[in-house]
Amino acid sequence: MKIMKFGGTSVGNPDRIRALIPLISDNEEKIVVLSAMSGTTNKLVEIAELLYADNINAASLKIDSLSSNYYQVVEDLYSTNEYKALGHEMIDSHIEYIRNFTLRVFTKLQEKAILSVGELISTSLFHLLLQERNIESALLPALSFMRVDKDGEPDAFYIKENLSRELENYKKEKIIITQGFICRNAYGEIDNLKRGGSDFSASLIGAGANAREIQIWTDINGFHNNDPRYVEHTSVIRQLSFDEAAELAYFGAKILHPSSVNPARENNIPVRLKNTMEPDDEGTLITSESDQLDYKAVAAKDGISVLRIRSDRMLMAYGFLRKVFEIFEAYRTPIDMITTSEISVSITIDNSDFIDQIAKDLRDLGSVEIEQNQSIICIVGDFRTERTGSAPEIFEALNTIPLKMVSYGGSPHSLSLLIDTSRKTEALRLLSKHLFN
Ligand code: ADP
Ligand code: ASP
Ligand code: MG
Repeated sequence: MKIMKFGGTSVGNPDRIRALIPLISDNEEKIVVLSAMSGTTNKLVEIAELLYADNINAASLKIDSLSSNYYQVVEDLYSTNEYKALGHEMIDSHIEYIRNFTLRVFTKLQEKAILSVGELISTSLFHLLLQERNIESALLPALSFMRVDKDGEPDAFYIKENLSRELENYKKEKIIITQGFICRNAYGEIDNLKRGGSDFSASLIGAGANAREIQIWTDINGFHNNDPRYVEHTSVIRQLSFDEAAELAYFGAKILHPSSVNPARENNIPVRLKNTMEPDDEGTLITSESDQLDYKAVAAKDGISVLRIRSDRMLMAYGFLRKVFEIFEAYRTPIDMITTSEISVSITIDNSDFIDQIAKDLRDLGSVEIEQNQSIICIVGDFRTERTGSAPEIFEALNTIPLKMVSYGGSPHSLSLLIDTSRKTEALRLLSKHLFN
């Protein structure tokens, strides 16, 4: 059994959807996890925002445009009138579902329901296409097994139990299609695994189904050593360890959802990143092995805020950091980076929803300074403690960029730096030039 997850661009138009057929036509049992067609989730977010703002007319216009885009997809995707009619019927029912939300008070719950429609449509489109081509497959609703708990964390036990039970019903079919991204929450409501979450779905499904491999098919031939959106001449890395990939994904490499490596790592299931446009390229393989290059890759995570707490009470005191951490815990705000001196501590967060409340509580402990619009640059490579020489190379490469924080020694395979987001592209390019070229 393998998992094959195809992202938004891989199902982005009728040609791309048809191009998946040869990729899934080997004889191995597989679960095909699909994202929404590229652009759809963004459009659904826009519709939800308009409904929040009670701008029903503008929302209705966007719903109309979504509907006519999908009508065109259906016309092009299927060759028979029978399947065109089935496609239109399917689109109508989803559009009708969205339209119903224009008639009531709009809440977070309904927003999540609207966001689920992209994946529901893409999987139905593909399932109908396979039926039209007489390729046997089953459409398994992710909402019947994918679930997060009260804290929004996937419920691995529930997922495994329910996925196994569902799969029992499809013993004959070699191709099971399901939705990425969408799930139910602890109260049974429709929810999702956050933007880009289909990778996470694939990994959770791989773990739940004991897959031999989890394949993430996207629009680039694997994990590159720097962010190709900002840096030219990046190159593909053929091998990464789970830890290295997790660190890069967490610190901003968009090719993988930040949490998506964990279920694969916990179950030791290889993850392969492949390009749907170049299926013969071997891509990147992520396993427990590392080939210990000095520098493997660089990634950047934006939207970071730093809080600097300064207090004489920290001097020679114990228990001070506990009090600081408890405040972040009370507001359920994870900490990314931390550096300390004898009388100060700097902490970064990427979720600033409660930053004002956190700062207010921290002021009971000392003075607090906040700086926003920061980015963490993460360099992944060989940073084992016995190794020498890498820090000077990195600092030399970035000697024109103000470094706000440095985290070194926390992990044997990464070094992280905090800089102003306005200097991020420059920093990524300098690192590429000095470390890789
Ligand atoms: P999908 O829709 O298939 O999930 P994404 O857009 O989420 O695809 O992820 C693929 C994109 O991630 C690439 O097109 C690329 O622009 C971007 N990306 C950012 N960092 C990296 C990296 N280190 N390696 C490869 N791609 C990266
Ligand atoms: N469709 C969702 C998004 O655009 C999930 C995904 O593509 O992974 O975020
Ligand atoms: Mg993605």
